[in-house]
Amino acid sequence: MRHSSARLQQRIWWTGYLAAHTAGEAHFPFLPEIVLRRVQSHRVRSIVRHAYHAVPYYRESMDRLRLRVEQFRTVEDLALLPILERDQIQRDPEYFLSTAPAKLPHRTERSSGSTGVPVTVFWDWASWLRTLARRERATLTVRRLAGRRNHRATLIAVLPVAMEGISMLRDGTLIPARLRPIQQRLSSLDPPELNIERMNEFRPDVVVAFGSYVDACFRYLEAYPRDFHRPKAIVYASDALPEPTRRRVVEGFGIPVVAGYQAVEAHPIAFGCGRGSSMHVNIDINPVRIVGRSDESLAVDETGDIIVSNLENRASVILNYRIGDLAALLSERCSCGRTLPLLSRIQGRRGDWFELTGGVSIPPQEIEIELTPETEIMRWQLVQVAPDLIRVSLLCRPSCDKEALRLRLEARLVRVFRGLARVETQFVDRFGQSPSGKFHAFVPLSRR
Ligand SMILES: [Zn+2]
Repeated sequence: MRHSSARLQQRIWWTGYLAAHTAGEAHFPFLPEIVLRRVQSHRVRSIVRHAYHAVPYYRESMDRLRLRVEQFRTVEDLALLPILERDQIQRDPEYFLSTAPAKLPHRTERSSGSTGVPVTVFWDWASWLRTLARRERATLTVRRLAGRRNHRATLIAVLPVAMEGISMLRDGTLIPARLRPIQQRLSSLDPPELNIERMNEFRPDVVVAFGSYVDACFRYLEAYPRDFHRPKAIVYASDALPEPTRRRVVEGFGIPVVAGYQAVEAHPIAFGCGRGSSMHVNIDINPVRIVGRSDESLAVDETGDIIVSNLENRASVILNYRIGDLAALLSERCSCGRTLPLLSRIQGRRGDWFELTGGVSIPPQEIEIELTPETEIMRWQLVQVAPDLIRVSLLCRPSCDKEALRLRLEARLVRVFRGLARVETQFVDRFGQSPSGKFHAFVPLSRR
């Protein structure tokens, strides 16, 4: 009895904590830039202090480099730290974990990783709840589009991970049911045609899915036109939605598309406001900078590696971290009135680039430009089977003239690959999915 009343008290406490941190979040992105910067600098100083005193990796690196906590005053100073690489966390996640008793890990998140080696990140309960509160910034857009707070949402993801977070929140807090979206949970391992049927029955206001899955659904709907339930908004994250598909969904189907950007190591990094494909960066919780091939800082509007710092998580501390995605910070301001700066759409991952002989590397966007105008193609995959051989697998509409398409594409792709690789085309009936539920359209040799 005593145990359950202590538990209830805890749940009440955490519900209050979540509510207190959620208040004002929706309007935070509209505050004057000077206020955002002040909050950001405060969090930078606070996390560096914590990292130095409680996290072995930072204590050792900072001592080695003779860096003092007081040197870290603004976000720019985080670049004094060595760039942290993904494989360092993969090898030894505990090295980045706080030893402070109050920051004991409560939740463990693992990313599938496109290379198949997962990254493990620990979250303490308070940090994790605060990141949930920050989601309110993105939710404002979605809720406005959906037209009501307790909207019906279909979540197409790899189920166990999503379910675990939802049930943790339900067990740890007392959030009233009327404030929670009514959810349908579908698996991204199921083919689009099956999930489209299920959504026709559920009639969601909002659909949340991987970018590659949204792409597959709409290519399927274009190939097999039919009546289908049109949600009021589509939210995608995790992997990229090709820009031509996004435009066709918005302009052709009239469905607003909202981007989100997050990872196990840092979330939420950026969120879309429904205008275009760029996203507002949460500079006070997961600030990013962009670096070039030799890790030099790049100017705005230049595309390079995203380096992110998670200023929120006090269990696994991840600062100045190369997350593996490519994008540009933009100089343009958004017409929505939010002052948080814009990040371009994610331009794929460095690991998606095809490395050919002679040091020539081809970014996936160059290939996408050739493939996306071919509306007969419902889905594609390019696998580099040898340094000089690319196998193209295509899932096409039944009406497709395969031979003509093959000749057309091979001629164009050989040009994209600068004549350094041969291109072989095969037509398939379906694609397998990776265990993570993400579909990799580009599989360079380095990833196999
Ligand atoms: Zn905006």
